[in-house]
Amino acid sequence: MDNPLLDQQALPQFMRIRPEHVEPAVRQLLSANRARIGELAMLAAPTFASVVEPLEELHHRTSRTWSPVSHLNAVLNSEALRAGYNACLPLLSAYQTDLAQSAPLYQAYRTIAEQEGAALAPVQRQLIEHAVRDFRLAGVGLPRERKERFKTAMLELAQLQAKFEENVLDATNAWSRHVSDINELRGLNEMLIEQARRRAEEQQAPGWILRLDQPTYVAVATDAESAELRRAFYEAWTTRASDRGPTAGRWDNSAVMEEILRRRHEVARLLDYPDYAQYALATRMAHSVDEVLGFLHELVGAARAAAQAEFAELEAFAGRKLAAWDVGFYAERLQRERFRVSQEELRPYFPLPRVLNGLFEAAERLFGARIRERAGAPAWHADVRFFEINSAGGEPLGSFYLDAYARPNKRSGAWMDECIGRKRLSSGTALPVAYLVCNFLPPGGERPALLTHDDVVTLFHEFGHGLHHLLTRVDYPSIAGINGVAWDAVELPSQFLENYAWQPEVLQRISGHFESGAPLPAEEQQRLIATRSFHAGLSMMRQLEFALFDFRIHTEYSPERGGRILEILREVRSQAAVVPVPEWNRFPNSFGHIFAGGYAAGYYSYKWAEVLAADAFAAFEEKGVFDRGTAQRFLDAILSRGGSRDALDAFIEFRGRRPDVRALLKQHGIDWALPKQYDADGAGEPA
Ligand SMILES: [Zn+2]
Repeated sequence: MDNPLLDQQALPQFMRIRPEHVEPAVRQLLSANRARIGELAMLAAPTFASVVEPLEELHHRTSRTWSPVSHLNAVLNSEALRAGYNACLPLLSAYQTDLAQSAPLYQAYRTIAEQEGAALAPVQRQLIEHAVRDFRLAGVGLPRERKERFKTAMLELAQLQAKFEENVLDATNAWSRHVSDINELRGLNEMLIEQARRRAEEQQAPGWILRLDQPTYVAVATDAESAELRRAFYEAWTTRASDRGPTAGRWDNSAVMEEILRRRHEVARLLDYPDYAQYALATRMAHSVDEVLGFLHELVGAARAAAQAEFAELEAFAGRKLAAWDVGFYAERLQRERFRVSQEELRPYFPLPRVLNGLFEAAERLFGARIRERAGAPAWHADVRFFEINSAGGEPLGSFYLDAYARPNKRSGAWMDECIGRKRLSSGTALPVAYLVCNFLPPGGERPALLTHDDVVTLFHEFGHGLHHLLTRVDYPSIAGINGVAWDAVELPSQFLENYAWQPEVLQRISGHFESGAPLPAEEQQRLIATRSFHAGLSMMRQLEFALFDFRIHTEYSPERGGRILEILREVRSQAAVVPVPEWNRFPNSFGHIFAGGYAAGYYSYKWAEVLAADAFAAFEEKGVFDRGTAQRFLDAILSRGGSRDALDAFIEFRGRRPDVRALLKQHGIDWALPKQYDADGAGEPA
């Protein structure tokens, strides 16, 4: 069969990929890989060139076949594709586990480290060190029976996580709100209302139909004047895939979550870690449970008072006690009154083409990266665009797809993922290709897609991940770009780049009214920038609540008592929640980051990396936000290095010291809650 998934010459042929290609391609690839691995494992005198390089090549090939599949499964989901995807999960999981548990290969890497160590380049040494660590974490040293059990648990985990994700998607798609009285839509923007009207028309129903996709949910939560409508959406959204709410019990993830925690705990115990969190920390920048909990509690302590004051002020503004589904709405009102800025009203100033130009220009000023659109690249949907990125000297560096708009059967949220990883091996070279995926409201008629400023920040964020992937100078796939980067440092480039969406000189360039072309007026820019620290305490506490919840369920799991998911959630809320949450809220049931994604015992990473990003950006503020020298150092020390060096070392090289939590608090204007530091002239003699 002519299978486009096995063609690795050019870009993936998305339009030719059919669900029936998936399983045969993966089977063929894996069996060829296994045969090759068998040969490599037999080599009597393993060297970097004879073993590591070929394995890096296999890594590259596997990713090239699988990446388009998992990508299409996320952006163009269908029953048939989902079936093909799911059929491959156990195959891939078994393959990866076999590879990671291969005793001969483990021995080969250790031999290479011993015999060639001193002669290898630092990048190569780091690669080997990572690999040896990962072999150990994959249970290579376990006795046979435990090794088998480990393998089975990993396989079951992959399936459970896919099930979790499916349940969330199905529950999200299943719910919609049929509105027959236009008054109930008061406050919502016209685009959304028009979409809802067309949807009703398509279904030959009178009135309007609102779906539960993310942009609609967010718009209702912040704009709908009808508290009844807000409550209905809040309930539907926060009870997805649970035992409560309008689709109660139909896609309930409760048992799936319990099973996931049980498997994770088992995996950690098999490797003699006391719990899953400590197992996860083995590859992180943070090294101990106490370090992470201490970090989170320090931030809780610093942000709580600010959050409480913000909430009290909001209730005073509303003139009543607020429910969870009122907060977004009144916060938007208060923000509008105070700053006279509304996200919806900003849309006309942020047409996507203009924003992209300004974003690319910023990337060029900082890192010398030149970005141009290329027409005609094969994509999976007519809305997808393709861009190439070159160095200032014209050297091709990589390329990326942008899939910007929300549509049915596309996973919600925004993300960057690897389509092709960079490699320069004796077997051949490849430049990196990325997917940038967002869920913005699509254009309508002659009108371009118009973004809120929140959307703009999201785009900068994902583009920051994209730069990390695309500007890498590492030649080995397993540690190039975002590969091999500690999870808690991986958000550094993305959150770093968000800062630029708030700079006046960038706002000047990325804004331009879609009718008149006029940039956002300077005075309005100032007011928008002032909103950045609006409710900084409340939003920080919310993130800390998620992070503490995630970290605690992964440290406190016990086979006897189970996951105690709701119990721990209640405890965390009693410490960290400021806004009252209804008893029936089941947000963990759709918390894909930790149950289906890579953030298990790692949600703290967002805050951790935010500290890194704020502190790194402060270095730019000291010299000028487009200072070329600082940008070059950032590129050299961090952005281009992938996983080829320790994240803390990289940070220290760039900043000249360890990260400082105060940079973040200062950025959000909540550093007043921290105890004042004594300076040398002040409080008495130093000891
Ligand atoms: Zn991110």
